Amino acid sequence: MVAPTTHVRGLVLRRDGSQCVSCATHTYPLEMNHRQSVGGGGSKVRPLPHELNTACSRCNMRFESDLLAKGLAFGWKVRKWVKNPGLVPMFNAARGRWGLLTSTGGVVVITAVDAFARMREVYGEQWDQWAAEAGLLAMRGATR
Ligand SMILES: [Zn+2]
Repeated sequence: MVAPTTHVRGLVLRRDGSQCVSCATHTYPLEMNHRQSVGGGGSKVRPLPHELNTACSRCNMRFESDLLAKGLAFGWKVRKWVKNPGLVPMFNAARGRWGLLTSTGGVVVITAVDAFARMREVYGEQWDQWAAEAGLLAMRGATR
């Protein structure tokens, strides 16, 4: 896995409001989370902003365990086989809104209804299962 450049890291932090996109904490140190996990060795290509998000060390670790379904439901994690992670919406818990991430560090804000439709386009009914498991419909701000 290749680390992002300092420039890209700065863009991602600014885009995400320098808070964990999952829990909005200031408590734990912030890390760059690769939305698509790369196994041993991994990609030699430096990641772009739409392939990353800001996560605290605690959430980042849990994305691989008990937060996996929630991470997929909210677009913090993206399945490896997805060719363009920019097409998978991401919820920013700190800002309370959904968006599509651009490769240049921007975010196009979309409604929850639009985000859910796009998630189902990518994942089908599997997404509904993750969303139910994650209690997404009960999460404040996630359904607006
Ligand atoms: Zn967190």
